[in-house]
Amino acid sequence: MTVVTRFAPSPTGYLHVGGARTALYSWLYAKSKGGKFVLRIEDTDIERSTQAAIDAILEGMQWLGLDWDDGPFYQTERFDRYNELIDQLLAEGKAYKCFMPAEELDAIREQQMANGEKPRYPGTWRDRTDHPVDQPYAIRFKTPQEGSVVIKDHIRGDIEIANSELDDLIIRRTDGAPTYNFCVVVDDWDMGISHVVRGEDHINNTPRQINILQALGAPIPEYAHVSMILGDDGKKLSKRTNAVGVMEFRDDGYLPEALLNYLVRLGWSHGDQEVFTKEEMIELFSLDAIGQSASAFNTDKLIWLNQHYIKTMPATEVAEHAKWHFEQQNIDLSNGPALEDVIEIQADRVKTLKELAEISAYFYQEYESFDAKAAKKHLRPVAKEALVLVQSKLAALTEWSTESIHNAINETAEELEVGMGKVGMPLRVAATGSGNSPSLDLTLNLLKPTQIEQRITKALEYIANRENS
Ligand code: GLU
Repeated sequence: MTVVTRFAPSPTGYLHVGGARTALYSWLYAKSKGGKFVLRIEDTDIERSTQAAIDAILEGMQWLGLDWDDGPFYQTERFDRYNELIDQLLAEGKAYKCFMPAEELDAIREQQMANGEKPRYPGTWRDRTDHPVDQPYAIRFKTPQEGSVVIKDHIRGDIEIANSELDDLIIRRTDGAPTYNFCVVVDDWDMGISHVVRGEDHINNTPRQINILQALGAPIPEYAHVSMILGDDGKKLSKRTNAVGVMEFRDDGYLPEALLNYLVRLGWSHGDQEVFTKEEMIELFSLDAIGQSASAFNTDKLIWLNQHYIKTMPATEVAEHAKWHFEQQNIDLSNGPALEDVIEIQADRVKTLKELAEISAYFYQEYESFDAKAAKKHLRPVAKEALVLVQSKLAALTEWSTESIHNAINETAEELEVGMGKVGMPLRVAATGSGNSPSLDLTLNLLKPTQIEQRITKALEYIANRENS
């Protein structure tokens, strides 16, 4: 059997982490079985679906690197096909016209609820033949009245639902539009879906969908209903307590690799292993190892993984993602060292790519002012001599390298008979504007000699001003 899975979002909002994790599981399963992953946009709810949401979903999938082998298919482009099959079921007596006006159905439901019963359509038109002419009607599916449906679920085991629990659902509305459950069934069949991986909120739809598949003579896919993700606070994941849109994680400076690794572990495990490359995920993933209980989002763990990936991924790959953050912060990368060189020396100093851009701006543009605390502490009159001497030694270098820079700083300290810190700290504040940077030889090496010269002059001016005030 060829494995074909799908991700079938409704474009009513951005791609949130719950959806992304479902998509990831679906994608991983297809990849792990050498199968196909299909993307389908379930846009039948025309009022709530928007192009902006479609774009946001596609952007999120692309950013995560969850590439699809087929699609995106759009349900709104397949209405003819749905209608063809609805007509077929009608002709075969497996569906029927229901002329019950909405008000009548509402009244029945109210009565049922008042009696403490589950509201359901009572099958009024199931066998009636006295059809009125020129009256609007919906089409309902004839749910079997006996027996039960067994969902074979990879995560939850077998789930049995008696058909007596289900009523005859509408498959085409009075306005002629095919309904959600019907479209899903036809698509899963036409697209050859072998495994349906989706959120547990769809469990109630599954028995209905299986009954329709059976009526159409279509094969029944296997199912995996994934539990929900809770927020850091153990409550339903919400915008208030956590970032929830996938692109928000990009904006906050996370690498897609880190988010994917985080999401795969949120509900799935392989021993105690925490870090998985994409290749390892594909190799080790199985639907049966997904847990049943809801998982709580843990931002600290995600940050830890993000740091891990920033430190261990090749700097050129980190640079591909980091570029965007520099652009967002209006830092022109053409004005300085290769970004991967900066990443090499800054990687273990940051948790996010956003932070990376923030603390690396001085490589590409003049800092606006000295960090107040660092300047107060290190740009003092006593530092003047060291700065003047190191400035002249650096200016005299014929070769600009970590080694020559290191020697110039060393010699300055030796000549003045002071500790390295007495030269290094003022020089660091002069060169970077702050008291924090990677080692000075590495940092200065990525800056231009003229930049260093000017920045030391600026620090000396600051000291002079301080003396005069
Ligand atoms: N369109 C549904 C949703 O976004 C998913 C349906 C399915 O996966 O079967 O929740």
